[in-house]
Amino acid sequence: MHYNNHTKLIRNIKEVCQQRNFKYSEVGRVGKNKQYPYIQVQIEPPEFSKTLLVISGVHGDEPAPVTAVVEFLREYEVDYPVKLIIFPCLNPTAMRIGTRKNWEGKDLNRSRHWYFQPEQALCLLHSYGQKIDAVISLHEDWMSRHAYGFGFNRKYKKYFQELLKSAGEYLPVVSKDSLEGMPVEDGVIYDKFDTSLEARFAEAGVPRCFCSETGMRADFNSRVRANVAIIQKATETLK
Ligand SMILES: [Zn+2]
Repeated sequence: MHYNNHTKLIRNIKEVCQQRNFKYSEVGRVGKNKQYPYIQVQIEPPEFSKTLLVISGVHGDEPAPVTAVVEFLREYEVDYPVKLIIFPCLNPTAMRIGTRKNWEGKDLNRSRHWYFQPEQALCLLHSYGQKIDAVISLHEDWMSRHAYGFGFNRKYKKYFQELLKSAGEYLPVVSKDSLEGMPVEDGVIYDKFDTSLEARFAEAGVPRCFCSETGMRADFNSRVRANVAIIQKATETLK
């Protein structure tokens, strides 16, 4: 399902969290009249050694990752010692109207001069105080039919490659060695400090930060499956 109805998205997430005993919380409200609940889901196994932060729906015109989060919540077997903190839809106002930017015309994947929009501030605030071991931010690219990503810290090259390999079961991974003038290594562009949320987390010392891109010229279902595979793999291989 391609969500463009935030109420329905929230209802489905709430339902699946209730069924599966995952922690659902409304951590704030956003939008001009604060009419949109801003939600977070947490999956906390009794014993865990690592924490993974998953961010989705930063741009309202990139629908597959949002659907993928709901699918992931339905399917995930809590078999790994990893705590998951998930923001299923960082930009509800943009999602509703299918735009990249939020209702104030701000791109939530940029934070010039360290000024954060309310949606970004809520994500940071409600991840604060936890030792985050990895951040995965799920995006889509209008221009592409491939999967690729932005990774920070080459030390975790293998982790990023595994994520793309899992996406590669559904979408071809970029095999060129340059993309829009940037060098690409096995589908990954490294250390692009562009003030995006994932770049900010990398600057703040989170060791593994990754932004995935699924090409919107591929069919919707393949993109959803690729995004589910990325979240699943990010959890499985976080050691
Ligand atoms: Zn995006």
